[in-house]
Amino acid sequence: MICEKCRRKFPGLALGPFGIVCQECMRLVVSEDPPLYEKLLAEHVLDLPLFLDIDDFERAMLKLSVHFLKSATPDQAIRLRNQNVYLMYPRPMALQLKDQVLEMIPLMYVSSMPAEGRNNVFCTGTYQFKKPLPKEVLVKAMVKAKLVKVEGEDLA
Ligand SMILES: [Zn+2]
Repeated sequence: MICEKCRRKFPGLALGPFGIVCQECMRLVVSEDPPLYEKLLAEHVLDLPLFLDIDDFERAMLKLSVHFLKSATPDQAIRLRNQNVYLMYPRPMALQLKDQVLEMIPLMYVSSMPAEGRNNVFCTGTYQFKKPLPKEVLVKAMVKAKLVKVEGEDLA
């Protein structure tokens, strides 16, 4: 098998969260980014721009991921680990959360193309926003995906 990132050949290379990548590339992909994560943790999950473009959305999902991992109970952490060890890392976890959230965003805002022949633990497909995504719509999608709770408001 050939690593999709560095294009080197490795025996026994298997499909992982970022496609077919060697261990060396995987280490780079999941490598920690502490200053950014700390910054994201200092922000509230729902402190978001009023309208989000793709970059804003990606950042929002990474923020959701670091908050999610930080607040995971030991039981949840074990379950994640059993599901896929990479889910212990913010970036791969963000991919999975993104997938769950995108599914809940009305089609008038987003078009997505799931990748074929890949496992669906991770969002490996591509997506586009048809127009800037209102914060309100994103928050509803996160609530619907049961990823955040908004107290005192019925967003369902
Ligand atoms: Zn590689």
